[in-house]
Order: sequence, then structure tokens, then C-alpha cells
Amino acid sequence: SIQRYKQLKWNQRRDFMNRFGWMLVKDRFWESYETNRLIEEFQKQDIEIQLVDPNTIDIFVNKDNKKSILVNGEESDLPKFVFPRTGSGTSYYIKAVIRHFERMDIPVINSSDAIDNVKDKLYTHQILAQSNLDIPKTMLLRYPIDIDFVEKNIGFPVIVKKISGSYGRGVFLCEDKKSLRQLVTMAELTKKSYDIILQEFIKDTWGKDLRVMVVNNKVVGCMMRQATDDDFRANITRGGEGFPYEVNEQIEWLSSESSKALNLDIAGVDLLFQNGGYKICEVNSNPGFEGMENYTKKNIAGEIVHL
Ligand code: ADP
Repeated sequence: SIQRYKQLKWNQRRDFMNRFGWMLVKDRFWESYETNRLIEEFQKQDIEIQLVDPNTIDIFVNKDNKKSILVNGEESDLPKFVFPRTGSGTSYYIKAVIRHFERMDIPVINSSDAIDNVKDKLYTHQILAQSNLDIPKTMLLRYPIDIDFVEKNIGFPVIVKKISGSYGRGVFLCEDKKSLRQLVTMAELTKKSYDIILQEFIKDTWGKDLRVMVVNNKVVGCMMRQATDDDFRANITRGGEGFPYEVNEQIEWLSSESSKALNLDIAGVDLLFQNGGYKICEVNSNPGFEGMENYTKKNIAGEIVHL
């Protein structure tokens, strides 16, 4: 079964599986650092990996599975496993393609439901909260906004986030009622209603956070990210820096439990600092690891391939 397959390391599957998989990567990322590193590590393990842009796949829903997938209009041998690297960019079309492999019992790592669990930040928090894992107090913005209700239930300053988004671009800090009203009015002017979450501002973490790489529910790397300007966001893509960070029991526990709750085989878990402890900020299903490899000198691609 898929579950059993996943429990085995890629390199132990040699005996009963052809070692041939598809890595689903949109073509504009074919030359990315992560794509190159993963291919390199697959090759070291003697695993044949083929890059496939999921948007060039056609699927046919019929009884004869063998001919149900075309790549660039051509029939092709089916892979023994599929490795989607589309993360929050997983459109409905790509998800349908991934589910098609799942229906054919081809192991998919991460699975479509796991990718879905982290595509929507509110949904991620709902699952984490249900598992009793520590997250900042979070609510979904209802229109028209009731500022006093926000003040009473979350307080100021407040963090405002787009439901999906990355690189810290859709994350804002509103100091007071007035600036929250301005931001929401501006958003409303652009579009009648945006999907926005409001979140408790964790002030201890200002300009710093942790990125924890989890593979198969085990921590394989951890770094602290720090803004180099006076911004509250620590994203490296915004110009932050990374430092290796020692994993303690609480980091190990929180990160692996989040990854388990979300059913992820590979996860990038972001933690915020609070009161000497941590809160979960967000979880990625397709984590980049260029910064992590550079700053920690760990072979993250190798860990992923050894899953
Ligand atoms: P993105 O997915 O765009 O990176 P995040 O939700 O990870 O968005 O937020 C970006 C950064 O903003 C985080 O890395 C962290 O530094 C900061 N941040 C996010 N949420 C909070 C919060 N509730 N309190 C304080 N800082 C936060």
C-alpha cells in the first residue's frame, strides 16, 4: 500500500520497484536551485527521475488506466512514484492530475490532501488547533469589518494576512484601529471582499523566526531567519539572513506534530518566538531549501530523497 511504501526509504525500494519517478515542476522552475539539487541527489541514489511540467499532462478518465495519461500529447510509461513540487501554486488542474495518480495507486509525495491542508493558511490553523498545537490567535475577516470586535478579541497591533501567499508579501502589521480600517478599505476598493485573516501579533518574534525542515515527521534542518532592516518580517526573500539554530525538544515536537497533523511527508514549518517557547506561524508543502543548505551546510535535498 501507499502507506507501507512511504515508510520505506526511496533507496530501499530497489528490490521490488523500478526506480523511476516523475517530479512535477512548472517549467519556469526547471532551472531552480531546488530542482537541480534534487535531481543531483536522485542520481546519486540511482533513481531515474523525470521532470514533468504538470500543465503539459492530459488525463482521461476511463476504465483503462494505462492510456489515461499523455505528456505533451504523447503516451508515456507511468512512473512508479510522483513527487509534486508545486506547493501553494497547485491549481485545480494540477490537483486533478495529482489525484489521478493517486487513483491509480501510484505513491504521491506529498499527497493531494496534504498539499490542500496547507494551501489555505486559515484551514492549516484549523487543523493545527484541532490537534492542540500552539498557534497565534487567528480569525477570518468578515465584511463589513467590525473594528471594535477585532480589538476586543485579538487586540492591537494586529497582523493582517492574505489566506494564501508567500515571501511575506501578503503580510501586514496594523498598529491601531485607524491603520486597520485604512488597509481594509484599500483592499475593499480593489475587490469587494478579500479572504483575509487577522492574527495576534507575537511581539517577541519581531524580525526573527525559525524555519524547520521536516521529512517523514523528523526534523532534518533548522535555521533562524532574521530581518536585516527594522521590518517585523524575517523572510530571507525580503532580504533577511539565516543562521543555523540548534533543535531542542520543543522544536522537534511542535514541528513533527504539525507535519503529522497535516499529513505531510515533506514540510517546511515556520515557528515564531514567544516567551521562551514557540508558536506555529505557517507550514509549506513545497519548501525551498537553498537558504537552509547554505546557512546550515546540511544536505537537505539528500534527506528529502532518502525520505
Ligand atoms: P509568508 O507565507 O508570506 O512568508 P508568513 O505567514 O510566514 O507569510 O509571515 C511572514 C513573516 O511575518 C513571518 O516569517 C514572521 O517573521 C512574520 N509574522 C507572521 N505572522 C506573525 C505574527 N502573528 N506575529 C509576529 N510576526 C509574524
